[in-house]
Amino acid sequence: MIKVEEAIAIIEANSTKMPTKRIKVNKALGYVLAKKVISPINMPPFRQSAMDGYAFAHSIRHQYDIVGISQAGDHSDIKLKATEAIRIFTGAHVPDHADTVVMQEHVMANNDSILIATMPEKLANVRPIGEQIRKEEMVFEANTLITPAAIGFLACLGITEIEVYKKPKVAILVTGNELVQPGKKLKKGKIFESNSVMLEAALQTIGIKKTKVFRVKDNLKATKKSLKEILKKYDIVLISGGISVGDYDFVKEALLQNDVKELFYKINQKPGKPMFFGKKNETLVFALPGNPASSLTNFYIYVAPAVKNRMGFSEIHKTKVVRKLNSQIKNTTGKTLFLKAKYDETNVTVLDGQSSAMLNTFAVANSLLIVPENIENYVKGQSVTLLPID
Ligand code: AMP
Ligand code: MG
Repeated sequence: MIKVEEAIAIIEANSTKMPTKRIKVNKALGYVLAKKVISPINMPPFRQSAMDGYAFAHSIRHQYDIVGISQAGDHSDIKLKATEAIRIFTGAHVPDHADTVVMQEHVMANNDSILIATMPEKLANVRPIGEQIRKEEMVFEANTLITPAAIGFLACLGITEIEVYKKPKVAILVTGNELVQPGKKLKKGKIFESNSVMLEAALQTIGIKKTKVFRVKDNLKATKKSLKEILKKYDIVLISGGISVGDYDFVKEALLQNDVKELFYKINQKPGKPMFFGKKNETLVFALPGNPASSLTNFYIYVAPAVKNRMGFSEIHKTKVVRKLNSQIKNTTGKTLFLKAKYDETNVTVLDGQSSAMLNTFAVANSLLIVPENIENYVKGQSVTLLPID
């Protein structure tokens, strides 16, 4: 049995980055850059007005003759004299001899001239060339997540394709004779199967949109056969159930017989102790406990960082938060506890119902409160560490 920190470190050390591919920028949401991006242009590419108003060369004068107009999209070669201004609109090119734009609300204008009532500072309301980025400057470094804003920024620089890490193909193998698909009739002794949809949803929160689900009965031969096919095609394999020490738990045996290298089995924690982590070629295999709350806990603690590592993220661990505890916690187990909890701006409350089989509590929790294995007691009011969950 290993410690939680050791398990996290082993997983991190063994999860390699995916191969890369070129992708259209408009399809790149949620991907992670594999190479830095350099700007092909200055942005803005020309001096731009930031306001609807009048462009002029700043001086002590308040009155200017209007000698032209510059609309967004125009390029004005007009050479302004010291006494002249042009009508200008937001986003329009500011002529070379002008250095300042006064907003239209601050002038009194007639058809031919303006009187500036509130004089702006020199250079006001003119966006300089390259204010956002200069040609040949770095737009994003490698390992940057592509967000909607990043897509917008790349597009405004005229970039249409980028190099990203491929997303890992993830398979979920569900084991258990007792399981029935929701929607079917629930016969005596059976329960509805919930881990696959739960894990699929959890994967979606970190950017894995499509997952393939496989199902087997508690049977060594079937489990082995199914894993053989899955291991050929997928980059990450999550297995639900069958990894404990019961007479009908065949997953570990089936993995070893498929030449999956065992990197650890069992972690000193509650819930979620019976978990296997292994690797075949670059494919990572997580055999998660069948108990739904254990399965999801271990997803957040172990699977999510590994998936993010394979996706190319530089930050694979979620930022933890610290809050004051609303009650006392005793830990007589000698294990690391992950407690379903709810935190607000200042405090955190441990929820009732921490059993590894119970999702009712998990469903209303917004965090896992971490009690390290060497902590026997947390007193009320003490600061504790939480992992926020989506
Ligand atoms: P196992 O790890 O296979 O021994 O399963 C532990 C417990 O979790 C048992 O009560 C199972 O019925 C339950 N369980 C296992 N797999 C699932 C699943 N996919 N959905 C819901 N409950 C499950
Ligand atoms: Mg089972």
